[in-house]
Amino acid sequence: MHVEVVENVLKLNDDVARRNRAVLHEAGVFTIDLLGGPGCGKTTLVERTLAALRAELRIAVIVGDLATARDAQRIARHCPHVVQVNTGKGCHLEAHQVRQAMERIDLHQTDLLIIENVGNLVCPVGFDLGQDVKVGMFSTTEGADKPAKYPYMVHESDVVLLNKTDLLPYVPFDVNQFDTDVRRLRPDATVLRCSAYLNKLDSWLDWLRARAAAPAEISAPYTKANPR
Ligand code: MG
Repeated sequence: MHVEVVENVLKLNDDVARRNRAVLHEAGVFTIDLLGGPGCGKTTLVERTLAALRAELRIAVIVGDLATARDAQRIARHCPHVVQVNTGKGCHLEAHQVRQAMERIDLHQTDLLIIENVGNLVCPVGFDLGQDVKVGMFSTTEGADKPAKYPYMVHESDVVLLNKTDLLPYVPFDVNQFDTDVRRLRPDATVLRCSAYLNKLDSWLDWLRARAAAPAEISAPYTKANPR
Protein backbone atom coordinates (compact mmCIF):
# COMPACT_ATOMS: atom_id res chain seq x y z
CA MET A 1 0.00 0.00 0.00
CA HIS A 2 2.86 2.36 0.86
CA VAL A 3 4.44 1.89 -2.58
CA GLU A 4 1.12 2.52 -4.27
CA VAL A 5 0.68 5.83 -2.45
CA VAL A 6 4.17 6.99 -3.38
CA GLU A 7 3.60 6.05 -7.01
CA ASN A 8 0.35 7.99 -7.03
CA VAL A 9 2.09 11.09 -5.67
CA LEU A 10 4.73 10.94 -8.40
CA LYS A 11 2.13 10.31 -11.11
CA LEU A 12 0.09 13.29 -9.93
CA ASN A 13 3.23 15.44 -9.95
CA ASP A 14 4.11 14.30 -13.46
CA ASP A 15 0.59 15.09 -14.70
CA VAL A 16 0.80 18.64 -13.32
CA ALA A 17 4.33 19.03 -14.70
CA ARG A 18 3.13 18.04 -18.17
CA ARG A 19 0.44 20.71 -17.96
CA ASN A 20 2.99 23.28 -16.77
CA ARG A 21 5.23 22.42 -19.73
CA ALA A 22 2.36 22.76 -22.20
CA VAL A 23 1.36 26.16 -20.77
CA LEU A 24 4.97 27.41 -20.81
CA HIS A 25 5.57 26.26 -24.37
CA GLU A 26 2.32 27.76 -25.56
CA ALA A 27 3.52 31.09 -24.14
CA GLY A 28 6.98 30.65 -25.71
CA VAL A 29 8.80 30.50 -22.38
CA PHE A 30 12.12 28.65 -22.00
CA THR A 31 12.37 27.25 -18.45
CA ILE A 32 15.28 25.99 -16.39
CA ASP A 33 15.19 24.21 -13.03
CA LEU A 34 18.36 25.13 -11.13
CA LEU A 35 19.48 22.45 -8.67
CA GLY A 36 22.36 22.42 -6.22
CA GLY A 37 23.32 22.11 -2.58
CA PRO A 38 22.89 24.93 -0.05
CA GLY A 39 25.58 27.54 -0.56
CA CYS A 40 26.80 26.38 -3.97
CA GLY A 41 25.91 29.80 -5.41
CA LYS A 42 22.50 29.36 -7.02
CA THR A 43 21.08 32.71 -5.94
CA THR A 44 24.25 34.58 -6.82
CA LEU A 45 24.16 32.96 -10.27
CA VAL A 46 20.54 34.05 -10.72
CA GLU A 47 21.38 37.62 -9.63
CA ARG A 48 24.33 37.89 -12.02
CA THR A 49 22.38 36.28 -14.85
CA LEU A 50 19.57 38.80 -14.43
CA ALA A 51 22.00 41.70 -14.37
CA ALA A 52 23.66 40.46 -17.57
CA LEU A 53 20.60 39.47 -19.60
CA ARG A 54 17.69 41.62 -18.46
CA ALA A 55 18.23 44.09 -21.31
CA GLU A 56 17.87 41.36 -23.94
CA LEU A 57 15.48 38.83 -22.37
CA ARG A 58 12.29 39.16 -20.36
CA ILE A 59 13.04 37.02 -17.30
CA ALA A 60 10.90 35.80 -14.41
CA VAL A 61 12.10 33.82 -11.38
CA ILE A 62 10.46 31.32 -9.02
CA VAL A 63 12.47 30.66 -5.85
CA GLY A 64 11.96 27.69 -3.55
CA ASP A 65 13.13 27.71 0.06
CA LEU A 66 11.93 26.07 3.25
CA ALA A 67 11.58 29.42 4.99
CA THR A 68 12.26 33.13 4.50
CA ALA A 69 12.01 35.31 1.40
CA ARG A 70 15.68 36.28 1.54
CA ASP A 71 16.60 34.90 -1.87
CA ALA A 72 13.54 36.48 -3.48
CA GLN A 73 14.43 39.82 -1.88
CA ARG A 74 17.95 39.59 -3.31
CA ILE A 75 16.64 38.67 -6.75
CA ALA A 76 13.94 41.35 -6.68
CA ARG A 77 16.66 43.99 -6.79
CA HIS A 78 17.36 42.82 -10.36
CA CYS A 79 13.94 41.64 -11.51
CA PRO A 80 10.38 42.66 -10.58
CA HIS A 81 8.96 39.31 -11.65
CA VAL A 82 9.96 37.04 -8.77
CA VAL A 83 7.77 34.67 -6.75
CA GLN A 84 8.99 33.00 -3.56
CA VAL A 85 7.58 29.59 -2.67
CA ASN A 86 8.09 28.51 0.94
CA THR A 87 7.99 24.74 1.12
CA GLY A 88 7.96 24.47 4.94
CA LYS A 89 9.40 21.05 5.71
CA GLY A 90 9.41 20.12 2.01
CA CYS A 91 12.92 19.53 0.69
CA HIS A 92 12.10 20.25 -2.97
CA LEU A 93 9.65 22.06 -5.21
CA GLU A 94 6.74 20.15 -6.69
CA ALA A 95 4.91 20.82 -9.92
CA HIS A 96 1.74 22.10 -8.26
CA GLN A 97 3.75 24.74 -6.35
CA VAL A 98 5.29 25.89 -9.61
CA ARG A 99 1.86 25.98 -11.24
CA GLN A 100 0.58 28.26 -8.45
CA ALA A 101 3.62 30.51 -8.81
CA MET A 102 3.18 30.60 -12.61
CA GLU A 103 -0.29 32.07 -12.10
CA ARG A 104 1.38 35.16 -10.62
CA ILE A 105 3.62 35.68 -13.66
CA ASP A 106 2.61 37.15 -17.02
CA LEU A 107 3.99 34.28 -19.09
CA HIS A 108 3.20 35.97 -22.39
CA GLN A 109 5.58 38.75 -21.33
CA THR A 110 8.31 36.26 -20.37
CA ASP A 111 11.08 34.72 -22.49
CA LEU A 112 12.99 32.89 -19.77
CA LEU A 113 11.73 31.41 -16.49
CA ILE A 114 14.38 30.47 -13.94
CA ILE A 115 13.26 28.16 -11.13
CA GLU A 116 15.74 28.12 -8.24
CA ASN A 117 14.97 24.89 -6.43
CA VAL A 118 15.44 24.24 -2.70
CA GLY A 119 19.13 23.70 -1.86
CA ASN A 120 19.42 19.92 -1.92
CA LEU A 121 21.33 17.40 -4.01
CA VAL A 122 18.82 14.57 -3.60
CA CYS A 123 15.14 15.40 -3.27
CA PRO A 124 14.54 17.79 -6.22
CA VAL A 125 15.94 15.32 -8.73
CA GLY A 126 12.92 13.06 -9.14
CA PHE A 127 10.32 15.79 -9.46
CA ASP A 128 9.54 17.10 -12.91
CA LEU A 129 8.34 20.71 -12.65
CA GLY A 130 7.60 21.28 -16.34
CA GLN A 131 11.05 22.72 -17.08
CA ASP A 132 12.87 22.32 -20.38
CA VAL A 133 16.25 21.77 -18.78
CA LYS A 134 17.52 20.82 -15.36
CA VAL A 135 20.80 22.56 -14.50
CA GLY A 136 22.88 20.85 -11.80
CA MET A 137 25.22 23.20 -9.96
CA PHE A 138 28.26 22.16 -7.91
CA SER A 139 30.99 24.32 -6.38
CA THR A 140 34.67 23.82 -5.70
CA THR A 141 34.22 24.24 -1.95
CA GLU A 142 31.94 21.19 -1.79
CA GLY A 143 34.62 18.78 -2.98
CA ALA A 144 35.11 16.95 -6.26
CA ASP A 145 33.47 13.76 -5.01
CA LYS A 146 29.92 15.16 -5.05
CA PRO A 147 28.90 14.07 -8.58
CA ALA A 148 29.87 10.45 -7.79
CA LYS A 149 28.12 10.59 -4.41
CA TYR A 150 24.96 12.19 -5.80
CA PRO A 151 24.79 10.50 -9.22
CA TYR A 152 21.08 10.97 -9.84
CA MET A 153 21.41 14.73 -9.91
CA VAL A 154 24.08 14.47 -12.58
CA HIS A 155 22.10 11.90 -14.50
CA GLU A 156 19.09 14.24 -14.69
CA SER A 157 21.07 17.42 -15.45
CA ASP A 158 21.35 18.51 -19.07
CA VAL A 159 23.83 21.15 -17.94
CA VAL A 160 26.36 20.72 -15.12
CA LEU A 161 27.86 23.90 -13.72
CA LEU A 162 31.00 24.02 -11.60
CA ASN A 163 30.94 27.28 -9.66
CA LYS A 164 33.52 29.09 -7.48
CA THR A 165 36.38 28.30 -9.85
CA ASP A 166 38.11 31.42 -8.49
CA LEU A 167 38.73 29.42 -5.29
CA LEU A 168 40.51 26.53 -7.02
CA PRO A 169 43.98 27.72 -5.88
CA TYR A 170 42.82 27.62 -2.25
CA VAL A 171 40.76 24.44 -1.91
CA PRO A 172 41.58 20.77 -2.42
CA PHE A 173 39.52 20.04 -5.52
CA ASP A 174 40.48 17.45 -8.13
CA VAL A 175 39.13 18.88 -11.39
CA ASN A 176 40.01 15.73 -13.34
CA GLN A 177 38.09 13.55 -10.93
CA PHE A 178 35.09 15.87 -11.15
CA ASP A 179 35.13 15.89 -14.96
CA THR A 180 35.64 12.15 -15.23
CA ASP A 181 32.76 11.36 -12.89
CA VAL A 182 30.39 13.79 -14.60
CA ARG A 183 31.25 12.39 -18.06
CA ARG A 184 30.74 8.84 -16.84
CA LEU A 185 27.34 9.64 -15.35
CA ARG A 186 26.01 11.86 -18.12
CA PRO A 187 28.20 11.74 -21.25
CA ASP A 188 26.07 14.21 -23.20
CA ALA A 189 25.82 16.87 -20.47
CA THR A 190 27.01 20.37 -21.21
CA VAL A 191 29.67 21.00 -18.56
CA LEU A 192 30.47 24.63 -17.81
CA ARG A 193 32.73 26.35 -15.29
CA CYS A 194 31.99 29.70 -13.73
CA SER A 195 32.57 32.08 -10.88
CA ALA A 196 29.24 33.73 -10.22
CA TYR A 197 30.68 35.87 -7.43
CA LEU A 198 33.33 37.35 -9.74
CA ASN A 199 30.91 37.56 -12.67
CA LYS A 200 32.88 35.11 -14.81
CA LEU A 201 29.90 33.63 -16.57
CA ASP A 202 30.57 33.93 -20.29
CA SER A 203 30.03 30.27 -21.26
CA TRP A 204 26.88 30.05 -19.10
CA LEU A 205 25.41 33.25 -20.52
CA ASP A 206 26.23 32.18 -24.09
CA TRP A 207 24.52 28.83 -23.54
CA LEU A 208 21.47 30.48 -21.96
CA ARG A 209 21.18 33.11 -24.72
CA ALA A 210 21.32 30.44 -27.40
CA ARG A 211 18.70 28.21 -25.79
CA ALA A 212 16.31 30.99 -24.78
CA ALA A 213 16.47 32.49 -28.26
CA ALA A 214 15.61 29.18 -29.93
CA PRO A 215 12.39 27.93 -28.32
CA ALA A 216 11.75 25.78 -31.39
CA GLU A 217 14.63 23.60 -30.24
CA ILE A 218 12.98 23.00 -26.88
CA SER A 219 12.98 19.26 -26.45
CA ALA A 220 11.44 16.70 -24.16
CA PRO A 221 13.10 16.29 -20.76
CA TYR A 222 15.76 13.65 -20.44
CA THR A 223 14.50 10.36 -19.08
CA LYS A 224 16.06 6.95 -18.81
CA ALA A 225 13.50 5.73 -21.34
CA ASN A 226 14.27 8.63 -23.66
CA PRO A 227 18.03 9.11 -23.59
CA ARG A 228 19.43 11.78 -25.83
MG1 MG B 1 19.39 30.36 -2.86
